[in-house]
Amino acid sequence: MDQIRKAMLDLEESQRGTGTEGTITFEEFLVLVRENPLQHVRNVHQVFHDMVHTFLGTGEDEYPEDPESINFISYDTNALFVEDADQPFFADRLFTNRLMNMVDGMRGSAQQNKIYIFDGPPGCGKSIFLNNLLQKFQKYANSPAGCRYETVWRLDRSLLDQSPERDGPPVLDKLAALLENREVPEALKNSPDEPLLRFGKGFVEVPCPSHDSPFLMIPKNQRPKFLDDLFHNDEFKWNLSYGKEYDWVFRTNPCTICTTLYKALLHQLGDPSEVFKMIHARPYVFNRRLGEGVTVFNPGDRVTRQPVLTNPQLQKRISSLLQDSNKVRYIFSRYARTNNGIFALMDIKGHNKDRLHELHNIISDGVHKVEEIEENINSLFLGVMNPEDNKTIRGIQSLSDRIEFINISYVLDSNTEVEIYRNIFGRHIGELFLPRVLENFARIIISSRLSDKSPALLSWIGDPDKYKLYCDKKLHLLKMSIYAGRIPTWLDQEDEKNFTAKRRRKVIAEAESEGHEGFSGRDALDIFHDLYSSFARDDSMITMDTLCAFFTKTRPELGKQIPEGFLDSLRRMYNYQTLQEVKESLYYYNESQISRDIQNYLFALNYEPGTTAICSYTEDKLEITEAFLSGIEDHLLGQDVRQGRRREFREETQREYTSQTLTQEIMVEGIDISETQLFTELNQRYVYSLKEKVLEPFLKNANFSRALKEFGGDDFKTYDKKIQDDVSFLIANLCDRFGYTEQGAREMCIYVVDNNLTEEFAD
Ligand SMILES: [Zn+2]
Repeated sequence: MDQIRKAMLDLEESQRGTGTEGTITFEEFLVLVRENPLQHVRNVHQVFHDMVHTFLGTGEDEYPEDPESINFISYDTNALFVEDADQPFFADRLFTNRLMNMVDGMRGSAQQNKIYIFDGPPGCGKSIFLNNLLQKFQKYANSPAGCRYETVWRLDRSLLDQSPERDGPPVLDKLAALLENREVPEALKNSPDEPLLRFGKGFVEVPCPSHDSPFLMIPKNQRPKFLDDLFHNDEFKWNLSYGKEYDWVFRTNPCTICTTLYKALLHQLGDPSEVFKMIHARPYVFNRRLGEGVTVFNPGDRVTRQPVLTNPQLQKRISSLLQDSNKVRYIFSRYARTNNGIFALMDIKGHNKDRLHELHNIISDGVHKVEEIEENINSLFLGVMNPEDNKTIRGIQSLSDRIEFINISYVLDSNTEVEIYRNIFGRHIGELFLPRVLENFARIIISSRLSDKSPALLSWIGDPDKYKLYCDKKLHLLKMSIYAGRIPTWLDQEDEKNFTAKRRRKVIAEAESEGHEGFSGRDALDIFHDLYSSFARDDSMITMDTLCAFFTKTRPELGKQIPEGFLDSLRRMYNYQTLQEVKESLYYYNESQISRDIQNYLFALNYEPGTTAICSYTEDKLEITEAFLSGIEDHLLGQDVRQGRRREFREETQREYTSQTLTQEIMVEGIDISETQLFTELNQRYVYSLKEKVLEPFLKNANFSRALKEFGGDDFKTYDKKIQDDVSFLIANLCDRFGYTEQGAREMCIYVVDNNLTEEFAD
């Protein structure tokens, strides 16, 4: 028996300290609070706000100077929802801004009692969202930045207990207490961090089951004066005194256990400072698995039969120390354990419906009756639900008043949608799509989720037809762009100017009723997988042709869910953009070449055709032939010019060059040829014609098209040198400027040729 007792004592010794680390005196606590009030004076709403901001950062506004901004900005949600998560959740820009608005309401204003319910269709990932959110909350709340202190009483036996110790060895006591106490949840019994009670040698430790902040122990009527004395005269003190956000500091009562303990001790000791010596502070440790600070109920979790928790052993000790069995009643409810923490319902159905109804009373009154005792409950109440479960709630007026619904829908922003595919199927997937085609796949998926009509966009834009090169009739593409935070550059000036903050809010507000239908998140992954596994090949990329054929021929049943005409519009927009890329890539190559061409031309005009000369400006070796001259003249005069006009133009230009440019400007005035009047004039003609005629090689030269197809192969070298150069430059520019791979650029050019895009958009 002695051996067992010794073993138990050793065990107690080894366990001492666990859970009490970081326990400090009330005075030490006040020093901490004074040093860092912003951290230590926080209720759960404020901590939640700080947590979200810590993980999301300040966000990025792509239009910082925009006077009509509605602060609809981009946040990187990876740290909050993706990193270290069992399953990642992807929040689009709409949802993230919604979450930010909700969270920002938690600082800077008084807290209303309510429950926040995230309402979204099956397959939108809302359970994953809630799990990841709570995981990060716990991580933050247990970190130094998120730490808050809770009250733990250390009742000093030497001051209180007149009777000799009769209770036997403490550890056995404790075990007995746990066994006796049926209400202690199963999980707690095995916890190394047993939070309910601790009997030290010289004191009985009584933790506040409601996790009350120690400064709530200062009697309410003395708190204003006390805190005024405690804090420096700074911004925090001003906010504390005048800001609604800190009302709770002056309004909140400590739990009945703390209240009655304080009174009983004061009665016995007579001196408040002696009472405060028994108040200690320790970090509030959150543990979802134990239901401490964070609790999540599933619809299948039974409602406990015993809603009142107590601890007879600790009760006996308190009563014996205070020499009165009725002064302090150590009873509380399960809500106490998430007081100052988060109480969450995963889906409002099954038993969670009953829980929601019970919560309603608590939220309305802010208190909860435990037998005859009123318990204060200040928790953050969260839940997720399916829209169909919503009907039961919406019917009950008093309940819905206390609920703030936050819409959580299928992703409506193509950037986020693409990010999901990359995360699930691998970063490399983009390599097997031509640029913008993967994004277009995401747009097709999203189009099925949008409302058919957009009154907000129609009243702003008027006739959608004017943007038919860039957008579909129903303006879905415009909407997606705005949902992703981009104001399209193709809007005309007037529409751009009229895109006021008021209009923006109306457009964004339409998202509240969208994203509940169409392809779900899971559908989208299945469809993507089908497309990718069927068509992505190392030797041929997925093009717009592949995409359109997939939705019209391979899986026509999917095509039916896409708004009418959307695919055609998307394809037209894609074609138009692609053609712009080709134009720019051809033009930019020429711009660097224009100057050389003009200098060579001016130099060559002074020689007889059929001779060879080295240009003194460019040092190019020139074969001065009729073809050489007219090749450049095509850009200066156009291709259809009469032969007589050519000769005339050559003579005029040569005369001007010798009489003015060379003899006056260059030789007398010392001007560089590229600065001369004649050069400037020819340059303007050249640029103008290039912009107009940049696609002529495509239109008028069948060899050019064939050479594009042969690019990179052996036969390519059999083409005319000029064509080889043009094609090579075009491909190189597409790679440099628009992010194509060489193979991609080639395939895109073939797409342009095969689809006759130059003619589709010829004006
Ligand atoms: Zn308390």
